Amino acid sequence: MKPLFTLLLFALLFSCTEKTKKAETIAKHIKLEKGDLKLPNYEALLDLNLVLEAPKPGEWLYDHYEKGQSYGDYIKSNPVAPFEDIKTIYIQPIGEFTDWEQKIINWNTEYIELFFNLKTIQLPPISEKSIPKSKQRIYYGNEQLDATYIINTMLPKKKPKDGIVIMGLTAKDLYPKPSWNFVFGLASYKKRTGVSSIARYSEEELNETNYSKCLMRLIKTSTHEISHMFTIKHCTYAICLMNGSNNLNESDSRPNGLCSECLSKLSWNLNFDNVSRLNKLIAFMETHHLSDDASFLSKQREVMLIQK
Ligand SMILES: [Zn+2]
Ligand SMILES: [Zn+2]
Repeated sequence: MKPLFTLLLFALLFSCTEKTKKAETIAKHIKLEKGDLKLPNYEALLDLNLVLEAPKPGEWLYDHYEKGQSYGDYIKSNPVAPFEDIKTIYIQPIGEFTDWEQKIINWNTEYIELFFNLKTIQLPPISEKSIPKSKQRIYYGNEQLDATYIINTMLPKKKPKDGIVIMGLTAKDLYPKPSWNFVFGLASYKKRTGVSSIARYSEEELNETNYSKCLMRLIKTSTHEISHMFTIKHCTYAICLMNGSNNLNESDSRPNGLCSECLSKLSWNLNFDNVSRLNKLIAFMETHHLSDDASFLSKQREVMLIQK
């Protein structure tokens, strides 16, 4: 029994030392690269990560092999980063919205600005009429827009010179190519354009009592897609906003927050004050009754207040 116990203890000690070393390396690296920031306590953040269980049939990681992208891989990948005069995120509404849908689009823009700590501007809406008839269709009685046309042809022309990313939003359903039924959203990381639809985010007409779910889904999709445009790949480390998902159930089960690994990537790239950013995100979530998401971020804020 004794050798086995010693081996086990050694393994535990080893993994703990490795974890601490990694957290310290990330913190030191960010400090070296970006100057004297208010650094989060990465070691404590690692302990908050929720374990990503082995994927079950139907889930994203069951069907897709993903290598993962560590913080070190990210730094080496020379990621897309805001340039001196190219650092604004643009939101492009497409088509018409009901009053409640419009409110959700406006709140989403507000949230994106807080999430990335980058100026975010909502452009005047584009009429669906500007999309050629051949790029629209009626599918089983449902009006749909061609998402591929939107991200490859329409949005690049709409992106102002200082735009680092442009994200189209519509209340109409989307399809990526004629053989597909529909798609929730589509993005071109090369062109830094994306489009997402809220058509399937609510089963009933939106109102004061039910809008939160639709807003939660939209802010999740928008920040997930825009994070990809900053070269952050799908997360395989923990339960995280950057996990891939196959369907709405799977993405609903993810938090509206980043794990320690993904947060360190974004924090390094965008150089924000983590505590002040979290204060604003939590206040937003509390205003919009997103209490589970607020509590996920509150735990992170709590450990970040213990500065290293
Ligand atoms: Zn993704
Ligand atoms: Zn992650």
